[in-house]
Amino acid sequence: MHESVDSLEIEPGMALEHQRRGALLLDVREDLERAAGYARGSIGLPRAAIEARIASLAPALDREILAICASGGRSLLAAKTLRELGYAHARSVRGGHARWQREGLPMEQGELDVDAAERYARHLVLPEVGVAGQQKILHARVVLVGAGGLGAPIALYLAAAGVGTLTLIDDDVVDRSNLQRQIIHTDARVGVPKVESARAMLNALNPGVRVESVRERLCGANVEALLRGHDVVVDGADNFPARYLLSAASLRLGLPLVYGAVHRFSGQVSVFDPRRADSPCYRCLFPQPPSAAEAPNCSEAGVLGVMPGIVGLLQANEVLKLILGIGEPLVGRLLCHDALAGTFRELRLPRDPDCPGCGANARFDGYEDIAALCAM
Ligand SMILES: [Zn+2]
Repeated sequence: MHESVDSLEIEPGMALEHQRRGALLLDVREDLERAAGYARGSIGLPRAAIEARIASLAPALDREILAICASGGRSLLAAKTLRELGYAHARSVRGGHARWQREGLPMEQGELDVDAAERYARHLVLPEVGVAGQQKILHARVVLVGAGGLGAPIALYLAAAGVGTLTLIDDDVVDRSNLQRQIIHTDARVGVPKVESARAMLNALNPGVRVESVRERLCGANVEALLRGHDVVVDGADNFPARYLLSAASLRLGLPLVYGAVHRFSGQVSVFDPRRADSPCYRCLFPQPPSAAEAPNCSEAGVLGVMPGIVGLLQANEVLKLILGIGEPLVGRLLCHDALAGTFRELRLPRDPDCPGCGANARFDGYEDIAALCAM
């Protein structure tokens, strides 16, 4: 194929030869497109940034520059811009990466695979997330206790966001009375273990997420082993023994604990982060477990179906913030929602120096003691 020097376009195979002889292959797509892979040896410079930055990449105006984009449209405009800037040997690679790949020319794998680059496109355009943030999410390991009301929205949204490993702990089976709020389960899966039902839904939503289902009841003997190795612990439990065990284990393992609870028409959320000296723990808020009479669960007190959705998503938001290291986590603050009044209230939650969990005189006598405390 004849390529005239003046032509603004060059065939991909010819471009590769020119690149090997020293031409600069300039990928003028956006960074997030490049994240899914790019022509080997190309330099990424989005089209909008050409005027500002080309001089540092190609100080000599006689350097041959071959612009490449997705399908050849933007790179043609880029080549015109480059000619106007004085680069007489600027051209556009005809057909862009689509043809480059179709012709089997050498590619470099991007930081994300194609599926991830498409799936997380709305994350990638957020400067606070971007490719680096999405990588953090993809490598994160989150353990979630409870695959019920709170666990359902938390697990669904964390899986959708791309959290790499989700460990679900729950020993219950799906009951028809769960379906009014536990939207990760379906009518057809009544009677199925909740962790298995949840895993089926999460795999269908995002096959890239590794879901580890643990069909066990959290207890003194397993809590530390089940939590170890994760980055964030999420409390989606519906009982006090699990909450006190989670609190103790997260303190001992130095893992942030994202707490949420719902009751009738109200809910509350906070973050206990033992990595921070100023952070309270769960027992700064509730030093001792309430008696069974004082602590009705959902089946006794009732709960409006949307409540665990609202509170669970506030928890999922805190998890993503912790993974990304952005924003202000709800450490030292208790966010309370009253659904009937339609209000959110924030209570200051300072660390209690006399706390039986994290205070100066706190003693840890083993997890069995904590379980026993809750049984009293
Ligand atoms: Zn405490």
